[in-house]
Amino acid sequence: MILILLWWGILLFQKSKEIHQLEKELLALQQDQLVSSEVKLRLEQLDGTLSRQVFMIIGEGFVFGIVLLLGIWFINRGYSREIEAIKQKRNFLLAITHELKSPLASIALIFETFKKRHLQGADRDKLIEHGLDETDRLTTLIKNLLLSAQIDKSYQPNFETIDLNLLVQKVADQVQKKHPDHQIETALDPAMQLGAFDQFGIYSVFYNLLENAVKYAGSSEKIVITTSSDQSGYTIEVSDQGPGILETEKRKVFEQFYRSGHEDTRRTKGTGIGLFIVKKMIELHHGKIEILDNKPTGSIFKVFFPKSKS
Ligand code: ADP
Repeated sequence: MILILLWWGILLFQKSKEIHQLEKELLALQQDQLVSSEVKLRLEQLDGTLSRQVFMIIGEGFVFGIVLLLGIWFINRGYSREIEAIKQKRNFLLAITHELKSPLASIALIFETFKKRHLQGADRDKLIEHGLDETDRLTTLIKNLLLSAQIDKSYQPNFETIDLNLLVQKVADQVQKKHPDHQIETALDPAMQLGAFDQFGIYSVFYNLLENAVKYAGSSEKIVITTSSDQSGYTIEVSDQGPGILETEKRKVFEQFYRSGHEDTRRTKGTGIGLFIVKKMIELHHGKIEILDNKPTGSIFKVFFPKSKS
């Protein structure tokens, strides 16, 4: 296209020159009938017209070129985004199939074991505990799926006065109970004030952040959740000592279905909807979330809720 545009420009330029030449020749033929000052004036006018036409050709060509390049850039960007969205949906389908299949397979195995063997005491309790963990995993997954489907349109937050410290401690205790081999610590601001929050929404924010910290960090690595408040609002930080998140990924991880890496090679389980829900719930409270780097390794998810609008 650029070459065609250039070619068109050159042709137009040549045609203008030819016309200019012909007009000059015509003037030369009429020279005898005109006074010399008039001939000079007509010649200057002809030269002026040619340079204006040259400027016009270059100007129009330049504008066409820019519009063309912008068009190509927009189409290419839309196409790449579409491809990326298709890839993420494919990854999501693979992940969700796996996430639904594996707890169901475990639960089926537990029932078969009970059918074949008459287990008693600790063995029986262990198996029941395992079955409950798997149903819990399924329930969380289905809740998150439902939430991510309705969060943009039909989710109605129910704001009530709550103590954030109590809620954070409750989530921390639950996740700690579920993952006893991990070390979860809380550092709660004793002067924390009550605020208006959607309990279910805030619960899912901290539950997802803590579950992620457990999932992506090793069991020997400490997870800390801190709360603080001042005149402007409430700040909650969830820090882990895991692998951290690359600068280039820090925005993308909040997109629906986005997971770092590729589904075929990834080792952690997940569906890429956890952080999407987290961000949406925080936005419902007019808050914000950012990812900072923990030292020496790991991530800090910093959540802020303003007081005036919370
Ligand atoms: P999922 O965990 O199901 O993949 P999320 O939406 O919760 O989906 O997270 C999106 C991505 O963000 C994850 O795939 C992971 O790469 C990255 N991530 C989230 N939390 C952490 C964390 N604490 N440490 C490192 N990476 C994380």
